[in-house]
Amino acid sequence: MNKSQLQQHDRNHLLHPFTDFHDLAQQGTRVITAAEGVYITDMDGHQLLDGMSALWCCNLGYSRSEITTAIHQQMQELPYYNSFFQCTTTPSIELADVLTKLTPVGLNNVFFTNSGSEANDTNLRLIRRYWDLLDQPSKRIVIGRNNGYHGSTIAAASLGGMSGMHKQFEPLDYVEHVQQPYWFGEGGDLSPEEFGLRAARSLDEKIQQLGPENVAAFIAEPIQGAGGVIIPPESYWPEIKRILAQYDILLAVDEVIFGFGRTGQWFGSDYYDLQPDLMTFAKAITNGYFPLGGTMVGDRIAKVIKSKGGEFTHGFTYSAHPAACMAGLATLKILREEKIIENVRDNIAPYLAKRWNELADHPIVGEARSLGLVGALELVKDKAGRTRFDDQCTAGGICRDMSIKHGLVMRATGDTMIIAPPLVITTAQVDELMEKAHRALDDTAKAMA
Ligand SMILES: *Cc1c(COP(=O)(O)O)cnc(C)c1O
Repeated sequence: MNKSQLQQHDRNHLLHPFTDFHDLAQQGTRVITAAEGVYITDMDGHQLLDGMSALWCCNLGYSRSEITTAIHQQMQELPYYNSFFQCTTTPSIELADVLTKLTPVGLNNVFFTNSGSEANDTNLRLIRRYWDLLDQPSKRIVIGRNNGYHGSTIAAASLGGMSGMHKQFEPLDYVEHVQQPYWFGEGGDLSPEEFGLRAARSLDEKIQQLGPENVAAFIAEPIQGAGGVIIPPESYWPEIKRILAQYDILLAVDEVIFGFGRTGQWFGSDYYDLQPDLMTFAKAITNGYFPLGGTMVGDRIAKVIKSKGGEFTHGFTYSAHPAACMAGLATLKILREEKIIENVRDNIAPYLAKRWNELADHPIVGEARSLGLVGALELVKDKAGRTRFDDQCTAGGICRDMSIKHGLVMRATGDTMIIAPPLVITTAQVDELMEKAHRALDDTAKAMA
């Protein structure tokens, strides 16, 4: 099929995730046909620097044959067997072992799923099971955050706080949401540190309002990803930790984006010194090459669910798929042996921060922030007032399109431009990214003038 045939069949038969089908039919899809290193290529031969690591997952880029070979070898040896009914496979045991060593102390058990959404569903089931086994059945409510993202199943989307999603289904009635630590958007006249405390204390207020005896757990991303790379003020996480300890509420940290090196530490929980009771992972664990997710289960919960009787009636046909686990093992081996994360921490992240901050001087950039290998730009009409151009987020859409025109994949979340390049990006490629982003901003400024 040629490009226009492909686009036509796509339009006729394929329903894409998070897509306005009407718009897509007008515009047509970009058919990605190849990728190498940190670049993707479309059917027209247009090469793009992938500033988003696909969907925050191809952290080692697209050319790691160690991972594809590991998958292939496993497929030839034992393409599949399940972990139900007292059975198991070697790769799943080995990956569980490696994960318990790499993750923060106290996380010594893992439950595998196929995706981040399923892993967060699993968290809900584990949280409920834990409090039930402890004879505290009133502890039922889980608190998430406005504009958080935890996936797209009913449970995961309920835990998330995306209002556009909540409008299209009935969210679970035992999930509540509190303020996000988004200083640029919601901080008003407070300093970032004051606002960080304010946002954290919205959790305290919610707990008091619901009654601590009714609150089971709090779930959050260390840094919001899909919500717009929202990096909390330094004051935020210590205050959240204090509040959770005060009321004896479990902490589930969703590391689907920040796990495996994105902050320059192995996990966002390492970066912020969190001790989660549950820790969700997916995406980068297989470098995006094979579907795999899961949740690390803290000793506090594991002790209870493993020692008290009865079956945990939960799991998936492909939980701990051997080929997925081999992809995970191969990915983690590269991360460790090539000291990828140390290089992010010591070299690439500081360089990206320096270059990214330069964009703050651009006339339409109200804030440029970054941490590790994520960055965000707030597009504004008026810098001092933090005023947007319009309510339709026109600037964000234009900037994304201009960026692609100049050969860079940058994502727009409203009028917030975000990047999360592969961890293996070089300083020269960071320079290329910056130059392209700069041109996209210039074009956007012209279009919005
Ligand atoms: C992508 C994402 C998920 C959902 O993972 P899927 O594999 O798409 O189900 C959950 N949490 C966060 C933070 C994510 O970024």
